[in-house]
Amino acid sequence: MNAWKITALIVFIAGFTLVILGGVYNPYTDVVNLPQGGFRGIGFSMYEGETVTYHLSSLERFTVYIMNSTEFQKLMNNGTFNGSYYTQTGKIMNLQFRAPKEDVYYIVIANFNSQKGIEVDFAYRKGMSMPLFLGGSIIVAISVLILIVDLLSVKRVNRDKVCPECGRKVSGEWNYCPYCRHELRGDEK
Ligand SMILES: [Zn+2]
Repeated sequence: MNAWKITALIVFIAGFTLVILGGVYNPYTDVVNLPQGGFRGIGFSMYEGETVTYHLSSLERFTVYIMNSTEFQKLMNNGTFNGSYYTQTGKIMNLQFRAPKEDVYYIVIANFNSQKGIEVDFAYRKGMSMPLFLGGSIIVAISVLILIVDLLSVKRVNRDKVCPECGRKVSGEWNYCPYCRHELRGDEK
């Protein structure tokens, strides 16, 4: 591998990493420990129309509520769970929430179904990051360009090859020199 191929590879890896990061933008995972009757709210600032995907799993049943900042404030002040956008009870949940308007939205995980403390694995993923994804794609394209330019220059060098025996111009694809029958295969670097 020559320096250009190594450069192309490094640029490609950098761009590809950005594409991957852009695709799985902002992943978050946490283990939520809840005593019997306890709950925990995790707030996310979201803009209108933004979608977030939640994955929750536990060995025991738990209940999930999604509410806006006003309803969460009511919950913290009065303990009322009314006015949630979403309520579901189960052991495993994969759910998607789309913000109706710009606000901080809370996913509230509650242990109201078990007679003991429980552990809930919680993960969320926001939508892809376009700047990271597009920037990475451009860098990947640049790495491909570097490789193409390098391959073209290698071809040109081969065409200008001379026979080490008689000194006449020969093609890099020939096995033997047509002028002096010198074997050309094997002495290429
Ligand atoms: Zn020759």
